[in-house]
Amino acid sequence: MVFAMTLRISGVLADAIRRAGEAAYPAECCGVLGGRVSGLKEVLQIAPMVNRRTDDPRRYLISPDDLLRITLELRDAELEVLGYYHSHPDQPAEPSEFDSEHAWPWYSYMIVRVNEGRSADLTSWVLEEDCAGMRQETLQVSTEV
Ligand SMILES: [Zn+2]
Repeated sequence: MVFAMTLRISGVLADAIRRAGEAAYPAECCGVLGGRVSGLKEVLQIAPMVNRRTDDPRRYLISPDDLLRITLELRDAELEVLGYYHSHPDQPAEPSEFDSEHAWPWYSYMIVRVNEGRSADLTSWVLEEDCAGMRQETLQVSTEV
């Protein structure tokens, strides 16, 4: 089974993720990608989440309670959780070993690199079928409003 698809997001939401990464710098920001699937995954809403991991600024953790709450909120809006986003302060926009180990199949994992407080690359990743690692997926940033 192939999990990789195209992830589409509006320029406005992509910018919001960049700003969140810059605001959280030098810690990591994190949040949920909500949207719909129709041939591709389309992000229609992003939900900033509280990073519950406080012992290490280079990690993020979304609490199960927070995740349940946002999942129900999205469901009310007839949207589903498509994946997650987080920032990499002064690290490449590539999944860390920790990210790969904690990823679930199918979900998209967007990563924004934040260099000295300014956002740089924005990428999206999915877990390989054999769960051995992550593969970059096509990220389509649309300019239409
Ligand atoms: Zn990471």
